[in-house]
Amino acid sequence: MNEWMEKALKLAVTNVREGGHPFGAVLVKDGEAIAEGVNELHIKPDVSAHAELVAIRKAQEHLRTTDLSDCTLYASGEPCPMCLTAAYFAGIKEIHFAQTVEEASRAGLSLSGKVYEELTKPKDSREINFIHEPVQNSDLDAMDLYSRKTSESE
Ligand SMILES: [Zn+2]
Repeated sequence: MNEWMEKALKLAVTNVREGGHPFGAVLVKDGEAIAEGVNELHIKPDVSAHAELVAIRKAQEHLRTTDLSDCTLYASGEPCPMCLTAAYFAGIKEIHFAQTVEEASRAGLSLSGKVYEELTKPKDSREINFIHEPVQNSDLDAMDLYSRKTSESE
């Protein structure tokens, strides 16, 4: 185990001692930690306050870019679908994790595993009702507006 994973795990252990969930994350660029985070759900009512997302937010603010393609994410726990998605959006190409979604479930934190399972189901079979309401008024077609605006600027 390298020093960054050890750091992520130490963050997770400290977070549990402080009343939080067992998750810590470190983002590394060019051999240096540029951001770290812990799960902050015990501090504030924010479902996006997962360790990985906290670290991604800090790194993007620090580097003043959404592009983290040259960063490696070290997460004490296997990222949940939300954090994995954020990693995709940030262009992160490598994620190291120590503890699995299954281990989290055994510790009483089963939502991540459940959402991974939900995402494998067809849209109409998911627990959240997913209702498509197509745009009927062209004045409300933000996609078309965006498409025209970006093609004008090229
Ligand atoms: Zn997460």
